[in-house]
Amino acid sequence: MESSNAPLGATKRTTLHRIPHKEVKDRQALYQILDAALVGHVGFVQEDQPFVIPVAIARDGDSLLLHGSKASRLFKILASGASCAVSVTILDALVLARSAFESSMNYRSALVLGKAVELEGVAKERAFERLTDHLLPGRRESLRPTTEKEIKQTTILTLSLEEASVKISSKFPADEEEDLSWPVWAGNVPIEHRYGTPVPDPRMTVAHPLPEYLKEWPEGRT
Ligand SMILES: Cc1cc2nc3c(=O)[nH]c(=O)nc-3n(C[C@H](O)[C@H](O)[C@H](O)COP(=O)(O)OP(=O)(O)OC[C@H]3O[C@@H](n4cnc5c(N)ncnc54)[C@H](O)[C@@H]3O)c2cc1C
Repeated sequence: MESSNAPLGATKRTTLHRIPHKEVKDRQALYQILDAALVGHVGFVQEDQPFVIPVAIARDGDSLLLHGSKASRLFKILASGASCAVSVTILDALVLARSAFESSMNYRSALVLGKAVELEGVAKERAFERLTDHLLPGRRESLRPTTEKEIKQTTILTLSLEEASVKISSKFPADEEEDLSWPVWAGNVPIEHRYGTPVPDPRMTVAHPLPEYLKEWPEGRT
C-alpha cells in the first residue's frame, strides 16, 4: 500500500493541546513507533461502555493490520464498522528528577483513530503474511503453511493511518534551578526492549540448531 503524505495531528481530534512541543508531525515517526511495537491497545464502545483491549499489530504501508478469531467480540464489532482508537506506546526511560513532581518518563507514543475494514481474498492472505513477518521476522518460510480453514477462522482488519498523532518525550529532568543542588542522584534510566535466551520446546522431537534469525532478534526492537 502507498504511504500517505497527510501530516500527523492534522484533525481537530488529533491536535495536541497539552505540552504541544512534544507533538511530532513527521509521518516517519509514526511508522517507526508502529514498526517497533508488537502490541497496540484498541479502544471501542459497546452499548455505551468503553473497552480497551490489547492485540498484536503490524504496519502495512499506511495501514495498521489486526487479526483475531472470527468468534471474537472485539473483531465482530470492529468489522461491523465501529469507530475505534489504537494506542501504541514505547517506554524509553524513567526520568529521575530531584522531586517526585518533576520525575517523568521518556516515551514514543502514537494514537490512530478510524474505522477498520475487513480484508478478504488475496489481500487477506497478504496481510496474514505481513503480520507473521512483523511478529515473527524470518520465520514464515520455515513454518507449516497456513491452511484455508485457519484463514477462514481468522478476521483480518486494516485500519488507515490517515488520522493519527505522535507525541514523543525525550529529555533530562526539568528541575527548577533552585532544586539542582538538592543532594540526590538525578538523570535518566534507559528501558531496553530485547528478547531473552530462547528456550527449546520440550516437545521438539528432532534436534534443530538455533535459527540464524533468532540470533538477530535480541538486537531487533528499538
Ligand atoms: C499481548 C497480547 C496480545 C494479544 N493479541 C491478540 C491478537 O492479535 N488477536 C486477538 O484476537 N486477541 C489477542 N489478544 C487477546 C485479546 O486481548 C482479547 O482477549 C481477545 O481479542 C478477545 O477480546 P474480546 O473483547 O473479543 O473478548 P471477550 O472475551 O468477549 O471479552 C470480554 C471481557 O473479558 C475481558 N478481557 C478480554 N480480553 C482481555 C485481556 N486481554 N485482558 C484483560 N481482560 C480481558 C474484558 O473485561 C472484556 O470486556 C492479545 C492479548 C494480549 C495480552
